[in-house]
Amino acid sequence: MKDYPADSLGHLRELGMGLKAFCQNRDCIHSMPILDELIAAFGPNAAYINRRFPLRCRKCGSRDVITMVQSNTATGAKMVR
Ligand SMILES: [Zn+2]
Repeated sequence: MKDYPADSLGHLRELGMGLKAFCQNRDCIHSMPILDELIAAFGPNAAYINRRFPLRCRKCGSRDVITMVQSNTATGAKMVR
């Protein structure tokens, strides 16, 4: 595991988590995973907390786009006692 700052995009990726962008246009509500793209643009050390990235919706062109952390749901893991 690399040593990224705890609030960085790279750290999020190391945890197996994602970042998803949500268009706030109620007639659109397009959403898409954005983490890899943000890492490519800003680097893995870029902070994501309390930050608003300059995003534009690909579907409707709105700049009113928020990002939310996605927990890792793709591991297939289950509770074992
Ligand atoms: Zn949109």
